[in-house]
Amino acid sequence: MTLKLNFTKHQEIMLNTLTKESKLNGFTDEEIGNDHIYTGLETPMRADAFETSDQIKKEKIAVLFKEIMNVMGLDLTDDSLKGTPNRVAKMYIDEIFSGLNPENKPKVALFDNKYQYNQMLVEKNITFYSNCEHHFVPIIGKAHVAYISSGKVIGLSKLNRIVQYYAKRPQVQERLTNQIASELKTILNTEDVAVIIDAKHLCVSSRGIKDDTSSTITSFYGGAFNTPEKISELQNYLKE
Ligand SMILES: [Zn+2]
Repeated sequence: MTLKLNFTKHQEIMLNTLTKESKLNGFTDEEIGNDHIYTGLETPMRADAFETSDQIKKEKIAVLFKEIMNVMGLDLTDDSLKGTPNRVAKMYIDEIFSGLNPENKPKVALFDNKYQYNQMLVEKNITFYSNCEHHFVPIIGKAHVAYISSGKVIGLSKLNRIVQYYAKRPQVQERLTNQIASELKTILNTEDVAVIIDAKHLCVSSRGIKDDTSSTITSFYGGAFNTPEKISELQNYLKE
């Protein structure tokens, strides 16, 4: 009974944009197992997610993480371990999951396209570190983003910052790709954006199937990018 209750609650949080049924696409949570599923563009969050301050969140996470360590039998009085709960809490909120908080969204200034440059601009090999939302272990990858100006241009470092902001969330690669694309479309006021991500998932390489050689590629080609010519032009630029 307890198990069933947890299952339903878990599903609700995970699928808040989709169904309240107890199955996803006809599969139960257990059947989905290690397979990564993608439920929507928005990161699934509760409406009250930011009613608690970052400081309180860190204090609560430290208590809970300490409990996890305790349950595993670790000696929290050991000099090496006693600071870990606080370190993890601070790292979660201030660093690796800081992209959950809209206050940390990069402020982006646009400039007039004075150079009249009207071809694609590609920013490639943006290294990012994210975390898989199903296992909370790292996703390490490179993002390549491109756009064609609709009259405004963006500072190059901002493209990097947008990638980092969305990477610093519990993620699935498909959503990360689409969130970056969606943000670029909004900021640059154009459909003509492309995002390609090539990433390694530690939940695939360091555990589970333990495949150390595979990587996962996802892509978004919007507007003018969605033609065989533009896709092949972009892919040419991305060749090492
Ligand atoms: Zn995973």
